[in-house]
Amino acid sequence: MTYWHGIEKQFYMNTFKRMPLTIVQGQGNRVWDEQGNEYLDFTAGWAVNCLGHCHPVVVSAITEQAKTLMHTSNQFYTIPQLKLAELLVQNSCLDRVFFSNSGAEATEGAVKLARRYGKLHLNGAFNVITALNSFHGRTLAMTAATGQRKFQEPYTPTPDGFINVEYNNLDAIKKATNDNTCAVMLEPIQGEGGVNVPDDSYLKQVRNWCDDKSIVLILDEVQTGIGRIGSLFGYQQFGIEPDIITLGKGLGGGFPIGAFLAKENVSVFAPGDHGSTFGGNPLACATAFATVNFIIEYDIPNNVKEIGEYLTAHLDKLKNKFNFIVEIRGRGLLQAIQFDGDWSDHIARSCLERGLLINAVKPNAIRFIPPLNITRGDVDEAMKIFEGVLSHIGNE
Ligand code: PLP
Repeated sequence: MTYWHGIEKQFYMNTFKRMPLTIVQGQGNRVWDEQGNEYLDFTAGWAVNCLGHCHPVVVSAITEQAKTLMHTSNQFYTIPQLKLAELLVQNSCLDRVFFSNSGAEATEGAVKLARRYGKLHLNGAFNVITALNSFHGRTLAMTAATGQRKFQEPYTPTPDGFINVEYNNLDAIKKATNDNTCAVMLEPIQGEGGVNVPDDSYLKQVRNWCDDKSIVLILDEVQTGIGRIGSLFGYQQFGIEPDIITLGKGLGGGFPIGAFLAKENVSVFAPGDHGSTFGGNPLACATAFATVNFIIEYDIPNNVKEIGEYLTAHLDKLKNKFNFIVEIRGRGLLQAIQFDGDWSDHIARSCLERGLLINAVKPNAIRFIPPLNITRGDVDEAMKIFEGVLSHIGNE
């Protein structure tokens, strides 16, 4: 055990199952440890470092804004916040935004907005239907929204008002809908749940159902948003317009920020209904503005589409080669490979030893969530290491 691993063991809450690596520096899609060993990073800080580590545009936005104005409060107007609001609204189908500091706060805020809408326009309806295997964050209410028992069980009783139903199953949503339902909240593709892609028609059907019942459709785009699946927002690939979306992760290019955006008719908050001390602060907003502006200007989602297909082709080849690979799934640069056994931890550690960082999203599945501006060469390099590790597994 290294010195820092010992310090963590002694002083940090026992919450994370960490890999045996202390990262001290990052640049582009590479990171380095204390000994100067280099790693190709296909985890991007859990889908956060969308332009890689320390991208000049992100660094310069942070530096300039830090020298100008880091924080005041939402008692006053600040320009970076309003510029980011304008940019996100003008490039989406939504009309208004609220900024938070994380994805969980964004989804929590979105649910509060839907409940407020229910109170004002749906006779007090408050239930939110979410999906099994979903992930919406770690606040107490969002563990109830998250349809995975393992996140709920340690904290029961979790807050009321969330019904978890099967993903990719419209009938399950229909059955769960009643007069108390104010919203359905779904990820366009489930990320933490193992990268589960629904049928093409699913979100359209859910949209129609929400319209029929006059209830709110929230898409949690904390993971799928900001170019991750090959369009600026995930909903754009499913032919629908949601009433609310949530953002986080890649929004700040590595700096913490979250957001939820809503259509005008659903934006029913009045002063005092919601708020945040740090949410929408100038430093985070200037950084997110620079990040999103760059992503739009350089059409990064198009690179994601192209490189994503290239990655899929590589993974498909591996599937043909190794019979213990069960499935390749995902879109853009949110992809997973599933095995017929629980080998992902072992595989991730072996990749680490060979200089590649990947994420064991499930005991039997590896997730690929690299920076969005990677090249074919990066994919070739990662796949060479990955294939080497799999060959080894095959021989064990
Ligand atoms: N929603 C989705 C879809 C996520 O993937 C995550 C995090 O993985 C969250 C919400 C929570 O975001 P955060 O960890 O920033 O609170």
